[in-house]
Amino acid sequence: MSLTKKIKYKYIAFGAGNFAVIVGLLVIFGWYTGNWQLKSVVSGYTSMKFNTALCIIFLGKSLILNSVHFFRKLYVISLACTVLTMIISFYTLLEMFNVVGFSIDNLFVPDRDIINPGASPGRMSAITATSILVTGVAFLFIPVYNIRLQKIGQYMLHTVSVITFVVILGYLFNVEPLYSFNISTPMALHTAICLHLVSSGASLINYKLGITGLFTGDQIGNILARNLFFKITIAMIVISYLDIYVEKYRILNTGVGSAIFSVAVMVLSFIFIWETSKNVNNLQQKKDLINERLNLIFEALPNALVMGNSDGKIILVNRETEKMFGYKREELLGKELEILLPQRLHAAHPGKMKSFFVNPFSRNFGSNANLYARRKNGEEFPIEIGLTPLKTEDGLVGLASVVDITDRKTSEKIIQEQLRELKIKNQEMEQFNYIASHDLQEPLRTVANYITLLEEDYPNEIKGEISGHLSAMKHATTRMSRLIKNLLDYGLLGRNKSLNLTDVNHTLNDVKADLNSLVKKTNSVIITATSLPTIFVYETELRQLLQNLINNAIKFRKKDTAPVIYIGHDLKDNVYEFYVKDNGIGIEEKHALTIFNIFQRLNREEEYEGYGVGLANCKKIVEMHGGKIWVESNGDGSTFKFTIPILKP
Ligand code: ADP
Repeated sequence: MSLTKKIKYKYIAFGAGNFAVIVGLLVIFGWYTGNWQLKSVVSGYTSMKFNTALCIIFLGKSLILNSVHFFRKLYVISLACTVLTMIISFYTLLEMFNVVGFSIDNLFVPDRDIINPGASPGRMSAITATSILVTGVAFLFIPVYNIRLQKIGQYMLHTVSVITFVVILGYLFNVEPLYSFNISTPMALHTAICLHLVSSGASLINYKLGITGLFTGDQIGNILARNLFFKITIAMIVISYLDIYVEKYRILNTGVGSAIFSVAVMVLSFIFIWETSKNVNNLQQKKDLINERLNLIFEALPNALVMGNSDGKIILVNRETEKMFGYKREELLGKELEILLPQRLHAAHPGKMKSFFVNPFSRNFGSNANLYARRKNGEEFPIEIGLTPLKTEDGLVGLASVVDITDRKTSEKIIQEQLRELKIKNQEMEQFNYIASHDLQEPLRTVANYITLLEEDYPNEIKGEISGHLSAMKHATTRMSRLIKNLLDYGLLGRNKSLNLTDVNHTLNDVKADLNSLVKKTNSVIITATSLPTIFVYETELRQLLQNLINNAIKFRKKDTAPVIYIGHDLKDNVYEFYVKDNGIGIEEKHALTIFNIFQRLNREEEYEGYGVGLANCKKIVEMHGGKIWVESNGDGSTFKFTIPILKP
């Protein structure tokens, strides 16, 4: 809200600046062309002098630049404009006191209109020069960071606004002393209007300061001031104008005129007071409503809210506090805050509270802070707490929002416990896997050795059917030994993993190089559909993953069809989704999940050799990265897809 307000005021200041520049330019044009309307507005009245017009243009320009957002470069130009105005007005004042010899009054154009006898032609009036000088000085203070100087500048602008307002009224009421102040030649009407707009507009730049702040604020007083000031001013001007008119033309005798004037003022005052009190009442009602709603929210909040003053006394609690701590509201109000804390924390609490009031900013203490509170029945419980300082009529108070985190702590503890158990189980599994695979190899080796011994020792007896049986046994033991090795490798996969920033294009090139002879033998074509990303991965494992998938894509090719494999990726919701698409034999949907289990194979060994471990490895590798792997197949080959989230080491 305050931002839009700020912009609105800057626009007004900008408009005032532009108005002054345009009027100043018109007057200068008037001086060069001899047009009296432009110079004096009303025939026979004082003209705006050429130098005054220059000053008004410079002040207007400076105001425009000050109201536009502040750039260093623009600042220099606005400063130059301000200084020029100050020099011209100050020099003119010096001329008045005969301090300087050279006159700048008719420097640009000669002034031949003798409207005020005795006045130096072409010289601005003393009030004009002073007002311009004061405005110039105030302009210097607008952009400074020192608030006191800004305030001084603001009051200087107010002074000019008041003087010029009186001059304008003087012209309106046609009362000469008001526009000449009886001490100098009069200020021209349009000079007064321009200076009034410039000084009032400039006071909007630091709109919170000085009298401007009274009109721009958001409090009830400010709203009333805005409403009343303009109404009263206009009403008084109208009444005064009528009064002067009546007196001048002697329409009523003096007594009657004054009486009517007083009655009019009283009636108007009454109307304004009536309206104002209605407004105040309305605002009060709204405030009460807001308070009531706030109270409802305060009571309905699921957190315990406890307000304490700087003496450490509880001054307000909500319903949840009663529920959480087991006290009735009356038992808490006015008591020390320590009543809600475990005994062992009582001694340290006043010191902590003091430091909060010395340094009153909002702070949160989460579950890591290990804070505890105490219920009426003496039970301690873990809490999370947020502290906020609040300014109230009774001074600074602290509002504590308390959450009972017993349940969360319990679940955290359970999860920690389960994690620990899982880790132990995992270690046990790894150990078992290792020992089992190792020990199983031993009897297998013995069987294989005995087969070799039989073949060597009985070359004559072993032939025909027996020889066939023995070589089947040999084949079975070799396969069993491979299976056990694969199982061992699967168990060890990713043991010493470390994340590395890897260009997946490079990894793929390495894999292609390794598979080169197979690719050539099978006339396979591998197409990289998109340039692959550079990401954090477990590099060795990723290579194994790609190798398995490409190897399968070639292995499970259709007879008489050369494999064509597409590899690419997409970035979806901050996760890289890779795919390896082939034109092979495809996979039935019902097997889409089971093929990722260890030792799961769909084809006979004679057709496609293998052990059913490759995809299980792939799954483990992808899950190690926190990703997912799946297959999509439509009969025309299969597409293996896997995701790798964006990881950081
Ligand atoms: P292996 O390749 O050693 O048999 P995998 O675990 O790599 O074991 O694959 C499991 C099974 O999934 C394979 O036996 C095969 O039936 C099927 N399969 C894997 N990749 C493909 C593919 N690209 N096209 C068709 N079937 C596949």
